[in-house]
Amino acid sequence: MRENLPSGSSSEGLPIGPHFAAAGTGTTLDPYADRYADRTRGMSVSEIRALFAVANRPEIVSLAGGMPYTAALPIDAISDMVGELLANNGPKALQYGPGQGDPRLRELICDVMALEGITGSAEDITVTVGSQQALDLVSRVFLDPGDVVLAEGPSYVGALGTFEAAQAEVVHVPMDADGLIPEALRGALVALQREDRRAKFLYTVPNYHNPAGVTLSEPRRHEVLAICEEFDLLVLEDNPYGLLGFDGVIQPALRSLAPDRVIYLGSFSKTFAAGVRVGWALAPPAVRQKLVLLSEAEVLCPPNLTQFVVAEYLSTQPWKEQLKVFRELYRERRDATLDALSAMMPAECTWTRPTGGFYVWLTLPEGLDAKVMQPRAIHSRVAYVPGVGFYADGNGRRSMRLSYCFPEPDRLREGVRRLAGVIEEELELRETFLTGQPGRDRSAAANRHVSDGPGPDVA
Ligand code: PMP
Repeated sequence: MRENLPSGSSSEGLPIGPHFAAAGTGTTLDPYADRYADRTRGMSVSEIRALFAVANRPEIVSLAGGMPYTAALPIDAISDMVGELLANNGPKALQYGPGQGDPRLRELICDVMALEGITGSAEDITVTVGSQQALDLVSRVFLDPGDVVLAEGPSYVGALGTFEAAQAEVVHVPMDADGLIPEALRGALVALQREDRRAKFLYTVPNYHNPAGVTLSEPRRHEVLAICEEFDLLVLEDNPYGLLGFDGVIQPALRSLAPDRVIYLGSFSKTFAAGVRVGWALAPPAVRQKLVLLSEAEVLCPPNLTQFVVAEYLSTQPWKEQLKVFRELYRERRDATLDALSAMMPAECTWTRPTGGFYVWLTLPEGLDAKVMQPRAIHSRVAYVPGVGFYADGNGRRSMRLSYCFPEPDRLREGVRRLAGVIEEELELRETFLTGQPGRDRSAAANRHVSDGPGPDVA
């Protein structure tokens, strides 16, 4: 949101037309500005949303959006399944349902979570409109204005949005190739303690992190939980990608290791279909009760129709086979992206090497700014999300998120080629600017002796 401006002037200091003049103490181009609740004050369009319109143009290779590749679903089989569902159970599927979510689906969700070692009860599950609604519910249940949330740096932009709407302060904890750094978590907790402050919870995406692409190693899972135990800190585990690992490894969910300390969020958006908007929260009973009450206040009940579709899908379709299809497809795209990055990126760039999920986090050479570079990239017909959008504190300017989930491998290679060209131009500019001399050839091929491949760098 814009800052309030003195009455009668726009952000450029120009007089504003009478039809823009606000009533009462009306002050800005927005005639409603003096009526909004405080919690809307910091709200701004996310980097991703702002990019969407441009990035979707066909001539642009978009490495920006994190859209799952739904075209890989067996659409005909799903279409038959939905037809039968409506023929057999139409009136109920088209009716309101329980606020906590459909009991049959909640049972089936327990089977899905069991794959990650979770023994949850259907009673403790709240079905939500995507896990995004669950993030919002948890934020509302726990956060008062000024409260502190610890979150990885970088963090999922949609979660940052819910924390911001709750007027919480996010303190980022750095990661490396093995995910969140336990000592950094301890450091952040000690620093808060010294100020006599306490974080409400740790928000974490342990598997195939959005946007960092890294996974919390198993030893660290135990270390992180031990620290949370020591400081009596709750954990909000957000895990939409956990079943999309490329090496056949399924990491134990934090929730499976510390059931009373962890609120677990799951989603069918990446493992089935984002369009059904079905996610869930598994929470200890006292918390679950509050989640359900708040959800009822927000949406009355999650949609029966899409919950029934998911329940049918899980009970009549070979969904585990479909997971393999998704894993193979995303693995091929990950490989295409990483190979292209190794072959084409200037040697001073570094990036993460995801073992699952959708994202690579790329860090630019010193002195470059992904946000400043963005118009040049769009002009060169490639889109990415600048890293600054994944931090609540203005960090991340040297980094960007690249998503490989949607474009075909050839498009990914072309996108990386275009991006490498943009970065090289930017480096040449930097060099010319700094030295007055034209820049040297910085391509990966020309610099192979300098680096045999960048290491992960997401801190
Ligand atoms: N958490 C993370 C880490 C995500 O990447 C996403 C989607 N991009 C969500 C939550 C929300 O997913 P949904 O609402 O579709 O379940």
